[in-house]
Amino acid sequence: MTMGSRDRVELSRTLGERIAFARREPDDEKAFTDAILAQLREDRLLWVVADEADAPALSIGDTARITFNIARLSGSAGLIYAMHMSQVLTLVRHGGDSPFFSELLRRMVRDQVLVASGTSEKGVGGDIFGSICTIEETGSALTVTKESPNISYLDHAGAILVSAMRGQDNGKNTQVLIAAEMKDMDLQPGHAAGFIGMRGVLNRPYGFTAKFGEAAIFADAYPVIARDTMTPSIHIFWAALWSGLASSALEKVRTCIGKSPPAESDVADVMQSEFSRLVDKHYAMNALIRDAVAAFDNKESVGAMGIAHTADVKRLKVLCSDLLTEICLGALGLLGIRGYAETGGYSLSEVLRDALSARVMISNYRLLTSNAKIERFVEEHL
Ligand SMILES: Cc1cc2nc3c(=O)[nH]c(=O)nc-3n(C[C@H](O)[C@H](O)[C@H](O)COP(=O)(O)OP(=O)(O)OC[C@H]3O[C@@H](n4cnc5c(N)ncnc54)[C@H](O)[C@@H]3O)c2cc1C
Repeated sequence: MTMGSRDRVELSRTLGERIAFARREPDDEKAFTDAILAQLREDRLLWVVADEADAPALSIGDTARITFNIARLSGSAGLIYAMHMSQVLTLVRHGGDSPFFSELLRRMVRDQVLVASGTSEKGVGGDIFGSICTIEETGSALTVTKESPNISYLDHAGAILVSAMRGQDNGKNTQVLIAAEMKDMDLQPGHAAGFIGMRGVLNRPYGFTAKFGEAAIFADAYPVIARDTMTPSIHIFWAALWSGLASSALEKVRTCIGKSPPAESDVADVMQSEFSRLVDKHYAMNALIRDAVAAFDNKESVGAMGIAHTADVKRLKVLCSDLLTEICLGALGLLGIRGYAETGGYSLSEVLRDALSARVMISNYRLLTSNAKIERFVEEHL
């Protein structure tokens, strides 16, 4: 029987019911995230953007809805799903039909393999277009050695997409993307400082050397892949994950107002109207995501849409991360000490810590500066 998109979005909505985890303590974040990933694999939700015999590929919008549903349970699982999905979409849209990529895709879909991201690099900061590592060639054997400031979920990944420079015959370098399998990687894990949030994800710096063949290099140049697929999709999926976090924070406030409204009626009125203002912000966030999904769907090549679209993709990231912060801090204000508590049904501890990652995962300042430079050439229209 063919599985429709509704079925899989619905399956993600009821994910929590299928995870055997009786209670959650602060130290359980990693175990809980791992249990969610195992269930996603069991439910075959890890490669939904690829066609399968009994399940046609889902749209970006439905994949974002799944990300939202996962993040309502766990920001860490939502982050892994979001990042993995942008890598998977890159493989599906840019791998082409070469024997190497066809076979890789077939195995990855079959085994529901997680794909990590190796784009950022020490020495160039968060500028993903500024690789300094270069592919080395010894006969037909290719290697690349890279120092990454952080790679997420390598304990679960079977493959990683790595950006690097490649020398050309004309003496110039072009930036390419490589599909490397973990079995062909030599890893030197760095010291994990530990992050404030997203504690369900193994996050740490790595030095690594990847071995691969010529066929593992994507035919499209990395800047094209990044602009057409990787960047717009990661910003949509991240924003969907943040919308899920916002939803968890708002749900706690909704429950609190319903179950234990303040005794003084004027305080209850203020709480209700402040809550409604927070829901407005969540609505704005979701409207921005839907708009970005429509823009993604409406163009085969996003690059063809020019600088206005590139600017909008950055605006989505900056605005949604700001809205998430405002919603979480607003929820904390309304819940008071119950929200500030480390544990308990109204605790915002995990959500707040996870939410803080939003503005640093590609610095908002970097995106704002980049947009500021082109703003005089861009006009927003209705
Ligand atoms: C939870 C998490 C998971 C991650 N997972 C991965 C992963 O799996 N794979 C991967 O490749 N990377 C990953 N990263 C790294 C991420 O993609 C970025 O590369 C990294 O967050 C950028 O580091 P940075 O803050 O040093 O920013 P940089 O961009 O290097 O900037 C350094 C500092 O300068 C500031 N700055 C930058 N530009 C400007 C500007 N124009 N104006 C003013 N100030 C500026 C920044 O705010 C920052 O304080 C992850 C990061 C986080 C937080």
